[in-house]
Parts: sequence; C-alpha cells; structure tokens
Amino acid sequence: CFITFEGIEGCGKTTQINLLAERLQALGHDVIVTREPGGCPIADQIRSVLLNGANSAMAPLAELLLYAAARAQHVAEIVSPALATGKIVLCDRFTDATLAYQGFARDLDKKLIQSLNQLASGNIRPDMTILFDCPVEVGLSRAVSPLDSHGIREDRFEKESLAFHQRVRNGYINIAEQEPDRITKVSADREVAAVAKDVLNAVLSRIAK
Ligand code: C5P
Ligand code: MG
Repeated sequence: CFITFEGIEGCGKTTQINLLAERLQALGHDVIVTREPGGCPIADQIRSVLLNGANSAMAPLAELLLYAAARAQHVAEIVSPALATGKIVLCDRFTDATLAYQGFARDLDKKLIQSLNQLASGNIRPDMTILFDCPVEVGLSRAVSPLDSHGIREDRFEKESLAFHQRVRNGYINIAEQEPDRITKVSADREVAAVAKDVLNAVLSRIAK
C-alpha cells in the first residue's frame, strides 16, 4: 500500500508521517517512511542541488527534470522494492508536489509534468494521498529548515513570495478536487494530536478495504 503526504511548507506533514508510522507499526504493520526529493543517496544528492540557497538562478525546466530524475532513482531503489514485498510505504511528497509546485506555482506545462510524473514513477500511483491544508501564513510561520554548513537555510523555497506559496496551496486544492477518491484533505491548522487522529482513521479505513 502506497500512501503519499502532501501540502505547503510548514503544513506539518513530516510530523504527521512519523506519528502515523509509529501507530501503524504498533498495530503490527510493516511500514517504511521515505521522502521526496530524496529518500536514497543519489536522490538526496539531487535534493541538495535543488534546495541549495546558492542555486536560486535554476531554470524552472532544469528544476522539473531534477525532480523527475530524483524520483526515478527513488522509485527504482526504494518504493518499488518495498511495495513488491508487501510493505506499507509512507512517502513525504510525490507526484502531486511536482504538479502543484512546478505546474501551478511555476507555470510549467501541466500535461508535460503529468507525462514526466508517469515516466519517473514507473506508473506507480499512490493508493491514497493525504493533503494537509492550511493557510499559507500559518504554514510559513512554522516552516524552518535546517541551516547548512555555511549558516544558510537548507531550503531556498521558504524564501519564495507569499503569492508563490498561495499558488501551491490552490494547486493542491485543485488536484484534490479532481481526484477525491484518492486524495483526502485534512485541515492542518489544528493541534498535532487532532490532525493525527483524522489521519490514522482515514488510513485505517483505507487499509481495511
Ligand atoms: O517537503 P520538504 O520541505 O522536504 O520539501 C523540500 C522543498 O522542496 C520544499 O520547500 C518545497 O517547496 C520544494 N519542492 C518544490 N517542488 C517539488 C517538491 C518540493 O519546489 N516538486
Ligand atoms: Mg520544507
């Protein structure tokens, strides 16, 4: 079972993915937690190129192709093998992030992104996606990425404009409306425990199917 977690900066998906993994493991499920961009050494190297604050001149198309390259490696090395052995794979961001960020926010061609997503993911699609939705101001006030060895924030995207993050949020909402069966929207502007309860219930009812 492949479950992906999506949302804007600071929506709390990383906290929630770890809480969910603990709960599922306690119930006896075989779970792995992974993330994009990254999740394995080659894709983590691509991640640091993508996020590095010094790379702010990166062309949007180059950025898109790097996300696709990181995904191709991550799916081949981590996601596919784990699904093949029956594990529950929880992935922090996946193809919807590419459509929301590079499509809706950077305005690259959405059809092209959808084909690239299919290519890079080897046609593996999430069985379920949780979208953590919250106002952009709330997310950005919570998002603080680690400092790198030069004291620069790891993540150059946190410096994008409010309007950029608003386009990402609206993009995600648009994607969720188009695929309501796959994507469950959870209101993330609440206490961690309340969000976690909704996530666990949604996932348990999906796993039971
Ligand atoms: O989820 P996480 O914070 O680890 O994502 C790293 C950064 O990469 C985010 O700040 C996000 O803005 C950016 N990103 C992006 N396009 C994607 C996926 C992530 O710009 N397709
Ligand atoms: Mg971040």
